[in-house]
Amino acid sequence: MLINAELLLQYQRCKRRTFLDIHGDKSQRDAPNELLRKLQQDKIAHQLSALAQITYHQPDYSYGNWEVAEKATLELMERGVEYIYKGVLLAAYSEATLLSRPNLLVKQPGQSSFGDWMYVPASIELGKRPKQEYQVVAAFHAQVLGIVQGVVPETASLILRTKNINYLVDLFKWIPRMQQILEEFIEVLELPNPPEVFISRQKCNFCHWYSQCYAIAQSEKHLSLLPGVTPLRYTQLQDIAITTLESLANTSPSTLENLVGFDPKVAPKLVVQAQSALEKRPLILPYPLPIKEITFTAPIELYFDIEAQPDLDLNYLLGVLVVDRLTNTEQFYSFLADKPADEELVWQQFLDLVWQYPEAPIYHFCVYEFDTVKRLAKLYNTPYASVRPVLNRFVDVYEQLTQSVALPVESYALKAIARWLGFEWREKEASGAKCIYWYDQWLETGDRTLLEIIQSYNEDDCRATRKVKDWLVNFFQNEYGLRLA
Ligand code: SF4
Repeated sequence: MLINAELLLQYQRCKRRTFLDIHGDKSQRDAPNELLRKLQQDKIAHQLSALAQITYHQPDYSYGNWEVAEKATLELMERGVEYIYKGVLLAAYSEATLLSRPNLLVKQPGQSSFGDWMYVPASIELGKRPKQEYQVVAAFHAQVLGIVQGVVPETASLILRTKNINYLVDLFKWIPRMQQILEEFIEVLELPNPPEVFISRQKCNFCHWYSQCYAIAQSEKHLSLLPGVTPLRYTQLQDIAITTLESLANTSPSTLENLVGFDPKVAPKLVVQAQSALEKRPLILPYPLPIKEITFTAPIELYFDIEAQPDLDLNYLLGVLVVDRLTNTEQFYSFLADKPADEELVWQQFLDLVWQYPEAPIYHFCVYEFDTVKRLAKLYNTPYASVRPVLNRFVDVYEQLTQSVALPVESYALKAIARWLGFEWREKEASGAKCIYWYDQWLETGDRTLLEIIQSYNEDDCRATRKVKDWLVNFFQNEYGLRLA
Protein backbone atom coordinates (compact mmCIF):
# COMPACT_ATOMS: atom_id res chain seq x y z
CA MET A 1 0.00 0.00 0.00
CA LEU A 2 1.30 3.44 -0.98
CA ILE A 3 0.53 6.23 1.51
CA ASN A 4 1.10 9.82 0.44
CA ALA A 5 0.72 13.18 2.17
CA GLU A 6 -2.50 14.05 0.34
CA LEU A 7 -4.22 10.95 1.78
CA LEU A 8 -3.02 11.88 5.25
CA LEU A 9 -4.26 15.44 4.78
CA GLN A 10 -7.70 14.26 3.70
CA TYR A 11 -7.80 11.69 6.50
CA GLN A 12 -7.55 14.46 9.04
CA ARG A 13 -10.55 16.15 7.47
CA CYS A 14 -12.65 13.00 7.04
CA LYS A 15 -11.85 9.33 7.69
CA ARG A 16 -14.56 8.21 5.35
CA ARG A 17 -13.16 10.20 2.45
CA THR A 18 -9.76 8.51 2.55
CA PHE A 19 -11.38 5.10 2.77
CA LEU A 20 -13.52 5.85 -0.28
CA ASP A 21 -10.58 7.38 -2.15
CA ILE A 22 -8.74 4.08 -1.81
CA HIS A 23 -11.50 1.47 -1.86
CA GLY A 24 -14.52 3.31 -3.32
CA ASP A 25 -16.01 3.09 -6.82
CA LYS A 26 -14.39 6.08 -8.51
CA SER A 27 -17.19 6.30 -11.08
CA GLN A 28 -19.51 7.40 -8.23
CA ARG A 29 -17.50 10.55 -7.53
CA ASP A 30 -18.91 13.99 -8.33
CA ALA A 31 -17.29 15.84 -11.24
CA PRO A 32 -15.01 18.68 -10.10
CA ASN A 33 -17.00 21.90 -9.97
CA GLU A 34 -15.75 25.33 -10.97
CA LEU A 35 -15.05 26.33 -7.38
CA LEU A 36 -12.77 23.36 -6.89
CA ARG A 37 -11.03 24.22 -10.15
CA LYS A 38 -10.58 27.79 -8.93
CA LEU A 39 -9.07 26.51 -5.69
CA GLN A 40 -6.63 24.37 -7.64
CA GLN A 41 -5.74 27.30 -9.90
CA ASP A 42 -5.19 29.52 -6.86
CA LYS A 43 -2.93 26.88 -5.34
CA ILE A 44 -0.84 26.63 -8.51
CA ALA A 45 -0.62 30.45 -8.74
CA HIS A 46 0.53 30.64 -5.10
CA GLN A 47 3.16 27.95 -5.71
CA LEU A 48 4.44 29.70 -8.83
CA SER A 49 4.72 33.01 -7.00
CA ALA A 50 6.70 31.34 -4.15
CA LEU A 51 8.94 29.57 -6.67
CA ALA A 52 9.57 32.78 -8.60
CA GLN A 53 11.75 33.96 -5.67
CA ILE A 54 14.29 31.09 -5.97
CA THR A 55 16.37 29.09 -8.45
CA TYR A 56 15.49 25.42 -8.13
CA HIS A 57 16.17 22.03 -9.71
CA GLN A 58 13.44 19.58 -10.61
CA PRO A 59 14.03 15.82 -10.98
CA ASP A 60 13.11 14.42 -14.36
CA TYR A 61 10.42 11.70 -14.19
CA SER A 62 6.96 10.90 -15.42
CA TYR A 63 4.08 10.89 -12.91
CA GLY A 64 3.66 7.53 -11.18
CA ASN A 65 7.12 6.25 -11.96
CA TRP A 66 8.17 6.66 -8.34
CA GLU A 67 11.37 4.57 -8.27
CA VAL A 68 12.80 6.56 -11.19
CA ALA A 69 11.62 9.77 -9.53
CA GLU A 70 13.34 8.92 -6.26
CA LYS A 71 16.58 8.02 -8.04
CA ALA A 72 16.57 11.38 -9.84
CA THR A 73 15.84 13.19 -6.55
CA LEU A 74 18.67 11.40 -4.72
CA GLU A 75 21.09 12.41 -7.47
CA LEU A 76 20.19 16.07 -6.91
CA MET A 77 20.52 15.68 -3.14
CA GLU A 78 23.94 14.06 -3.51
CA ARG A 79 25.03 16.97 -5.68
CA GLY A 80 23.90 19.29 -2.92
CA VAL A 81 21.72 21.63 -5.02
CA GLU A 82 20.07 24.43 -3.02
CA TYR A 83 16.40 23.81 -3.81
CA ILE A 84 14.63 20.72 -5.23
CA TYR A 85 11.10 21.22 -6.51
CA LYS A 86 8.75 18.19 -6.58
CA GLY A 87 11.35 15.73 -5.33
CA VAL A 88 10.14 12.20 -4.55
CA LEU A 89 11.22 10.15 -1.53
CA LEU A 90 10.14 6.65 -0.51
CA ALA A 91 10.36 4.81 2.82
CA ALA A 92 9.07 1.48 4.07
CA TYR A 93 6.60 1.74 6.97
CA SER A 94 5.14 -1.39 8.50
CA GLU A 95 3.41 -3.17 5.57
CA ALA A 96 3.13 0.07 3.62
CA THR A 97 5.38 2.40 1.63
CA LEU A 98 5.38 6.10 2.42
CA LEU A 99 5.55 8.31 -0.67
CA SER A 100 6.68 11.85 0.10
CA ARG A 101 6.54 14.61 -2.51
CA PRO A 102 7.27 17.85 -0.66
CA ASN A 103 6.88 21.03 -2.69
CA LEU A 104 10.49 21.88 -1.92
CA LEU A 105 13.55 20.31 -0.38
CA VAL A 106 15.76 23.08 0.93
CA LYS A 107 19.51 22.60 1.58
CA GLN A 108 20.77 23.51 5.07
CA PRO A 109 24.10 23.21 6.91
CA GLY A 110 24.35 19.94 8.91
CA GLN A 111 25.52 16.35 8.71
CA SER A 112 23.64 13.79 6.64
CA SER A 113 24.38 10.69 4.60
CA PHE A 114 25.16 13.07 1.71
CA GLY A 115 27.97 14.95 3.49
CA ASP A 116 28.09 18.16 5.52
CA TRP A 117 24.70 19.33 4.33
CA MET A 118 21.15 18.15 4.83
CA TYR A 119 17.68 19.00 3.56
CA VAL A 120 14.50 20.26 5.19
CA PRO A 121 11.04 19.99 3.60
CA ALA A 122 8.97 23.07 2.72
CA SER A 123 5.23 22.96 1.91
CA ILE A 124 3.61 25.77 -0.06
CA GLU A 125 0.06 25.98 1.29
CA LEU A 126 -2.89 28.09 0.20
CA GLY A 127 -4.13 28.71 3.75
CA LYS A 128 -3.22 31.78 5.74
CA ARG A 129 -2.76 30.01 9.06
CA PRO A 130 -0.48 27.07 10.03
CA LYS A 131 -3.37 24.65 10.46
CA GLN A 132 -2.78 21.35 12.27
CA GLU A 133 -3.32 19.39 9.05
CA TYR A 134 -0.48 21.29 7.33
CA GLN A 135 1.87 20.66 10.25
CA VAL A 136 1.06 16.93 10.21
CA VAL A 137 1.81 16.80 6.49
CA ALA A 138 5.11 18.65 7.05
CA ALA A 139 5.98 16.07 9.74
CA PHE A 140 5.17 13.28 7.29
CA HIS A 141 7.65 14.68 4.74
CA ALA A 142 10.27 15.18 7.47
CA GLN A 143 9.93 11.60 8.69
CA VAL A 144 10.50 10.14 5.21
CA LEU A 145 13.32 12.59 4.57
CA GLY A 146 14.91 11.57 7.90
CA ILE A 147 15.00 7.92 6.79
CA VAL A 148 16.46 8.82 3.38
CA GLN A 149 19.20 11.23 4.52
CA GLY A 150 19.93 9.60 7.89
CA VAL A 151 19.00 12.66 9.95
CA VAL A 152 15.59 14.07 10.86
CA PRO A 153 15.44 17.88 10.58
CA GLU A 154 14.33 19.80 13.66
CA THR A 155 11.95 22.01 11.73
CA ALA A 156 10.07 22.08 8.44
CA SER A 157 8.76 25.15 6.61
CA LEU A 158 5.22 26.16 5.72
CA ILE A 159 5.08 28.87 3.07
CA LEU A 160 1.62 30.31 3.71
CA ARG A 161 -0.46 32.69 1.66
CA THR A 162 -0.07 35.50 4.15
CA LYS A 163 2.64 37.67 2.64
CA ASN A 164 6.20 36.98 3.86
CA ILE A 165 5.09 34.24 6.22
CA ASN A 166 7.46 31.30 6.41
CA TYR A 167 6.22 29.31 9.38
CA LEU A 168 8.56 26.84 11.09
CA VAL A 169 6.94 23.58 12.19
CA ASP A 170 8.27 22.14 15.46
CA LEU A 171 8.94 18.55 14.38
CA PHE A 172 9.78 17.43 17.89
CA LYS A 173 6.12 18.03 18.66
CA TRP A 174 4.50 17.08 15.36
CA ILE A 175 6.30 13.87 14.29
CA PRO A 176 4.88 11.81 17.21
CA ARG A 177 1.41 13.26 16.53
CA MET A 178 1.75 12.41 12.85
CA GLN A 179 2.81 8.84 13.65
CA GLN A 180 -0.27 8.39 15.80
CA ILE A 181 -2.50 9.63 12.96
CA LEU A 182 -0.67 7.37 10.51
CA GLU A 183 -1.33 4.31 12.69
CA GLU A 184 -5.05 5.15 12.96
CA PHE A 185 -5.15 5.81 9.23
CA ILE A 186 -3.78 2.32 8.42
CA GLU A 187 -6.30 0.73 10.81
CA VAL A 188 -9.20 2.57 9.15
CA LEU A 189 -8.08 1.44 5.70
CA GLU A 190 -8.22 -2.16 6.86
CA LEU A 191 -11.86 -1.90 8.00
CA PRO A 192 -14.36 -3.97 5.96
CA ASN A 193 -16.72 -0.99 5.47
CA PRO A 194 -16.27 2.77 5.12
CA PRO A 195 -16.54 4.86 8.31
CA GLU A 196 -19.95 6.36 9.00
CA VAL A 197 -21.18 9.37 7.05
CA PHE A 198 -21.06 12.69 8.89
CA ILE A 199 -22.20 15.65 6.84
CA SER A 200 -20.52 18.89 7.78
CA ARG A 201 -20.77 21.79 5.36
CA GLN A 202 -17.22 22.90 5.99
CA LYS A 203 -15.52 19.63 5.15
CA CYS A 204 -18.04 18.14 2.72
CA ASN A 205 -18.57 21.13 0.43
CA PHE A 206 -15.47 20.46 -1.64
CA CYS A 207 -15.57 16.66 -1.44
CA HIS A 208 -16.12 14.58 -4.55
CA TRP A 209 -18.13 11.98 -2.60
CA TYR A 210 -20.69 14.56 -1.46
CA SER A 211 -23.69 13.39 -3.55
CA GLN A 212 -23.22 9.81 -2.44
CA CYS A 213 -22.73 10.68 1.25
CA TYR A 214 -25.57 13.19 1.32
CA ALA A 215 -28.00 10.65 -0.19
CA ILE A 216 -27.03 8.13 2.50
CA ALA A 217 -27.37 10.75 5.27
CA GLN A 218 -30.81 11.76 4.03
CA SER A 219 -32.07 8.20 3.70
CA GLU A 220 -30.87 7.46 7.25
CA LYS A 221 -32.14 10.81 8.62
CA HIS A 222 -28.63 11.09 9.99
CA LEU A 223 -28.22 13.35 12.99
CA SER A 224 -25.38 15.25 11.28
CA LEU A 225 -28.10 16.87 9.12
CA LEU A 226 -29.54 18.49 12.23
CA PRO A 227 -28.16 22.01 12.86
CA GLY A 228 -26.25 22.07 16.12
CA VAL A 229 -25.04 18.46 15.98
CA THR A 230 -21.25 18.80 15.78
CA PRO A 231 -18.91 15.77 15.55
CA LEU A 232 -18.11 16.13 19.27
CA ARG A 233 -21.77 16.32 20.29
CA TYR A 234 -22.60 13.39 17.99
CA THR A 235 -20.02 11.18 19.75
CA GLN A 236 -21.49 12.18 23.11
CA LEU A 237 -25.01 11.35 21.91
CA GLN A 238 -23.85 7.98 20.56
CA ASP A 239 -22.32 7.16 23.95
CA ILE A 240 -25.76 7.42 25.55
CA ALA A 241 -27.43 5.55 22.67
CA ILE A 242 -29.09 8.58 21.08
CA THR A 243 -28.59 7.95 17.39
CA THR A 244 -31.92 8.85 15.80
CA LEU A 245 -34.01 11.98 15.41
CA GLU A 246 -36.82 10.30 17.36
CA SER A 247 -34.63 9.43 20.33
CA LEU A 248 -33.14 12.93 20.46
CA ALA A 249 -36.58 14.57 20.17
CA ASN A 250 -37.84 12.48 23.09
CA THR A 251 -34.86 13.11 25.35
CA SER A 252 -35.07 15.31 28.39
CA PRO A 253 -32.61 18.23 27.99
CA SER A 254 -31.36 17.57 31.52
CA THR A 255 -29.89 14.26 30.23
CA LEU A 256 -27.70 16.20 27.83
CA GLU A 257 -26.73 19.40 29.57
CA ASN A 258 -23.76 17.97 31.47
CA LEU A 259 -22.23 16.16 28.49
CA VAL A 260 -19.03 17.54 26.93
CA GLY A 261 -19.95 20.08 24.25
CA PHE A 262 -23.39 20.79 25.76
CA ASP A 263 -24.59 23.26 28.36
CA PRO A 264 -27.95 24.29 29.85
CA LYS A 265 -28.65 26.49 26.81
CA VAL A 266 -27.50 24.16 24.03
CA ALA A 267 -29.24 21.04 25.34
CA PRO A 268 -32.89 22.26 25.26
CA LYS A 269 -32.27 24.05 21.96
CA LEU A 270 -31.02 20.85 20.32
CA VAL A 271 -33.96 18.82 21.61
CA VAL A 272 -36.42 21.38 20.20
CA GLN A 273 -34.45 21.39 16.95
CA ALA A 274 -34.94 17.60 16.71
CA GLN A 275 -38.67 17.97 17.50
CA SER A 276 -38.99 20.60 14.79
CA ALA A 277 -37.29 18.34 12.22
CA LEU A 278 -39.43 15.38 13.26
CA GLU A 279 -42.72 17.27 13.23
CA LYS A 280 -41.65 19.27 10.14
CA ARG A 281 -42.84 22.55 11.62
CA PRO A 282 -41.32 25.63 13.26
CA LEU A 283 -41.22 25.65 17.06
CA ILE A 284 -40.44 28.45 19.48
CA LEU A 285 -37.20 27.87 21.39
CA PRO A 286 -37.24 27.55 25.20
CA TYR A 287 -35.66 30.96 25.83
CA PRO A 288 -36.65 33.17 22.88
CA LEU A 289 -35.72 36.84 22.67
CA PRO A 290 -38.11 39.05 24.68
CA ILE A 291 -41.09 39.72 22.47
CA LYS A 292 -40.39 43.47 22.33
CA GLU A 293 -36.99 42.74 20.79
CA ILE A 294 -38.39 40.62 17.97
CA THR A 295 -38.24 42.37 14.65
CA PHE A 296 -41.10 44.64 13.68
CA THR A 297 -42.73 46.11 10.61
CA ALA A 298 -41.92 49.72 9.67
CA PRO A 299 -43.47 52.00 7.00
CA ILE A 300 -40.16 52.02 5.09
CA GLU A 301 -37.69 49.17 5.40
CA LEU A 302 -34.27 48.65 3.86
CA TYR A 303 -32.80 45.20 3.13
CA PHE A 304 -29.04 45.16 2.71
CA ASP A 305 -26.58 42.59 1.36
CA ILE A 306 -22.89 42.80 0.38
CA GLU A 307 -20.80 40.82 -2.11
CA ALA A 308 -17.08 40.78 -1.34
CA GLN A 309 -13.83 39.44 -2.77
CA PRO A 310 -11.83 38.48 0.35
CA ASP A 311 -8.54 37.91 -1.52
CA LEU A 312 -8.65 41.51 -2.74
CA ASP A 313 -9.99 42.72 0.59
CA LEU A 314 -12.74 44.32 -1.44
CA ASN A 315 -16.49 44.88 -0.95
CA TYR A 316 -17.48 45.40 -4.55
CA LEU A 317 -21.27 45.29 -4.40
CA LEU A 318 -23.58 46.92 -1.85
CA GLY A 319 -27.18 46.03 -2.64
CA VAL A 320 -30.18 47.68 -0.94
CA LEU A 321 -33.86 46.86 -1.43
CA VAL A 322 -36.08 49.77 -0.35
CA VAL A 323 -39.58 48.65 0.62
CA ASP A 324 -42.22 51.37 1.08
CA ARG A 325 -45.19 49.73 2.75
CA LEU A 326 -47.29 52.91 2.64
CA THR A 327 -47.16 53.26 -1.14
CA ASN A 328 -46.76 49.52 -1.61
CA THR A 329 -43.69 50.02 -3.79
CA GLU A 330 -40.16 48.72 -3.74
CA GLN A 331 -36.93 49.57 -5.49
CA PHE A 332 -33.59 47.81 -5.62
CA TYR A 333 -30.29 49.74 -5.67
CA SER A 334 -27.13 47.97 -6.77
CA PHE A 335 -23.97 49.93 -5.96
CA LEU A 336 -21.35 48.09 -7.92
CA ALA A 337 -17.60 48.71 -8.10
CA ASP A 338 -16.79 47.29 -11.51
CA LYS A 339 -13.17 47.96 -10.70
CA PRO A 340 -11.61 47.61 -7.22
CA ALA A 341 -10.67 51.30 -7.07
CA ASP A 342 -14.40 52.18 -6.98
CA GLU A 343 -15.06 50.73 -3.54
CA GLU A 344 -15.03 54.15 -1.89
CA LEU A 345 -17.46 55.48 -4.48
CA VAL A 346 -20.03 52.73 -3.87
CA TRP A 347 -19.59 53.13 -0.12
CA GLN A 348 -20.54 56.80 -0.44
CA GLN A 349 -23.50 55.94 -2.70
CA PHE A 350 -24.71 53.50 -0.07
CA LEU A 351 -24.48 56.09 2.69
CA ASP A 352 -26.31 58.70 0.59
CA LEU A 353 -29.16 56.27 -0.02
CA VAL A 354 -29.62 55.08 3.58
CA TRP A 355 -29.59 58.70 4.79
CA GLN A 356 -32.56 59.43 2.53
CA TYR A 357 -34.58 57.20 4.89
CA PRO A 358 -33.25 58.21 8.32
CA GLU A 359 -35.95 56.32 10.25
CA ALA A 360 -35.92 53.08 8.26
CA PRO A 361 -34.57 49.90 9.86
CA ILE A 362 -31.82 48.24 7.84
CA TYR A 363 -32.31 44.48 7.80
CA HIS A 364 -29.44 42.15 6.97
CA PHE A 365 -28.68 38.44 7.46
CA CYS A 366 -25.66 37.63 9.70
CA VAL A 367 -23.08 39.95 11.11
CA TYR A 368 -20.96 40.53 7.98
CA GLU A 369 -22.84 43.64 6.80
CA PHE A 370 -22.66 45.32 10.22
CA ASP A 371 -18.94 44.60 10.59
CA THR A 372 -18.19 45.68 7.05
CA VAL A 373 -19.93 49.02 7.41
CA LYS A 374 -17.80 49.67 10.48
CA ARG A 375 -14.67 48.65 8.53
CA LEU A 376 -15.50 50.78 5.49
CA ALA A 377 -16.21 53.80 7.69
CA LYS A 378 -12.78 53.43 9.27
CA LEU A 379 -11.04 52.79 5.96
CA TYR A 380 -12.52 55.88 4.27
CA ASN A 381 -12.44 58.15 7.34
CA THR A 382 -16.20 58.61 7.31
CA PRO A 383 -17.29 60.87 10.18
CA TYR A 384 -18.62 58.99 13.19
CA ALA A 385 -21.78 61.10 13.10
CA SER A 386 -22.59 59.78 9.61
CA VAL A 387 -22.09 56.14 10.46
CA ARG A 388 -23.19 55.56 14.05
CA PRO A 389 -26.89 56.44 13.42
CA VAL A 390 -26.85 54.11 10.41
CA LEU A 391 -25.39 51.24 12.43
CA ASN A 392 -27.98 51.83 15.14
CA ARG A 393 -30.68 51.00 12.59
CA PHE A 394 -29.17 47.61 11.66
CA VAL A 395 -31.27 44.54 12.52
CA ASP A 396 -29.71 41.10 12.13
CA VAL A 397 -32.55 38.83 10.99
CA TYR A 398 -30.36 35.74 11.42
CA GLU A 399 -29.68 36.51 15.05
CA GLN A 400 -33.32 37.22 15.83
CA LEU A 401 -34.46 34.05 14.11
CA THR A 402 -31.88 31.66 15.56
CA GLN A 403 -32.42 32.94 19.08
CA SER A 404 -36.15 32.50 18.89
CA VAL A 405 -37.23 29.68 16.59
CA ALA A 406 -36.21 26.17 15.51
CA LEU A 407 -37.02 25.41 11.88
CA PRO A 408 -37.16 22.05 10.09
CA VAL A 409 -34.11 22.89 7.98
CA GLU A 410 -30.64 21.38 7.63
CA SER A 411 -28.88 24.69 8.06
CA TYR A 412 -29.61 28.25 9.12
CA ALA A 413 -27.98 29.68 6.02
CA LEU A 414 -30.18 32.23 4.25
CA LYS A 415 -30.60 29.89 1.28
CA ALA A 416 -31.83 26.95 3.33
CA ILE A 417 -34.33 29.04 5.30
CA ALA A 418 -35.68 31.08 2.40
CA ARG A 419 -36.06 27.96 0.25
CA TRP A 420 -37.98 26.29 3.06
CA LEU A 421 -40.31 29.31 2.86
CA GLY A 422 -40.74 28.74 -0.89
CA PHE A 423 -38.38 31.47 -2.10
CA GLU A 424 -36.26 30.66 -5.16
CA TRP A 425 -33.20 32.47 -6.47
CA ARG A 426 -33.34 33.31 -10.17
CA GLU A 427 -29.76 32.09 -10.55
CA LYS A 428 -30.17 28.51 -9.38
CA GLU A 429 -26.44 27.71 -9.27
CA ALA A 430 -25.29 30.97 -7.69
CA SER A 431 -23.74 31.19 -4.23
CA GLY A 432 -21.54 33.64 -2.34
CA ALA A 433 -18.46 31.56 -3.22
CA LYS A 434 -19.39 31.45 -6.90
CA CYS A 435 -19.85 35.22 -6.95
CA ILE A 436 -16.24 35.56 -5.76
CA TYR A 437 -15.17 33.36 -8.67
CA TRP A 438 -17.36 35.26 -11.17
CA TYR A 439 -16.08 38.63 -10.04
CA ASP A 440 -12.51 37.38 -10.57
CA GLN A 441 -13.56 36.15 -14.01
CA TRP A 442 -15.10 39.56 -14.76
CA LEU A 443 -11.83 41.29 -13.86
CA GLU A 444 -9.95 38.88 -16.11
CA THR A 445 -12.28 38.70 -19.10
CA GLY A 446 -14.44 41.85 -18.97
CA ASP A 447 -17.53 39.68 -19.54
CA ARG A 448 -20.31 41.92 -18.19
CA THR A 449 -22.90 39.12 -18.07
CA LEU A 450 -20.99 37.82 -15.02
CA LEU A 451 -21.62 41.10 -13.21
CA GLU A 452 -25.29 40.95 -14.13
CA ILE A 453 -25.57 37.45 -12.65
CA ILE A 454 -23.93 38.65 -9.43
CA GLN A 455 -26.27 41.65 -9.23
CA SER A 456 -29.33 39.48 -9.70
CA TYR A 457 -28.06 37.07 -7.03
CA ASN A 458 -27.40 39.94 -4.62
CA GLU A 459 -30.88 41.37 -5.23
CA ASP A 460 -32.41 37.97 -4.53
CA ASP A 461 -30.41 37.75 -1.29
CA CYS A 462 -32.05 41.03 -0.20
CA ARG A 463 -35.48 39.74 -1.22
CA ALA A 464 -34.85 36.45 0.58
CA THR A 465 -33.90 38.39 3.74
CA ARG A 466 -37.19 40.23 3.44
CA LYS A 467 -39.08 36.96 3.04
CA VAL A 468 -37.50 35.53 6.20
CA LYS A 469 -38.05 38.71 8.19
CA ASP A 470 -41.72 38.98 7.15
CA TRP A 471 -42.24 35.32 8.01
CA LEU A 472 -40.71 35.81 11.45
CA VAL A 473 -42.99 38.77 12.22
CA ASN A 474 -46.07 36.85 11.06
CA PHE A 475 -45.07 33.75 12.96
CA PHE A 476 -44.78 35.61 16.25
CA GLN A 477 -48.00 37.52 15.60
CA ASN A 478 -49.82 34.25 15.06
CA GLU A 479 -48.17 32.43 17.95
CA TYR A 480 -48.74 35.16 20.50
CA GLY A 481 -51.70 36.89 18.90
CA LEU A 482 -49.77 40.12 19.23
CA ARG A 483 -49.45 43.09 17.01
CA LEU A 484 -45.73 43.86 16.84
CA ALA A 485 -45.26 47.43 15.97
S1 SF4 B 1 -18.87 14.02 1.63
FE1 SF4 B 1 -18.27 14.50 3.71
S2 SF4 B 1 -18.65 12.61 4.85
FE2 SF4 B 1 -18.59 12.06 2.69
S3 SF4 B 1 -16.50 11.47 2.30
FE3 SF4 B 1 -16.68 13.61 1.77
S4 SF4 B 1 -16.07 14.75 3.57
FE4 SF4 B 1 -16.48 12.65 4.21
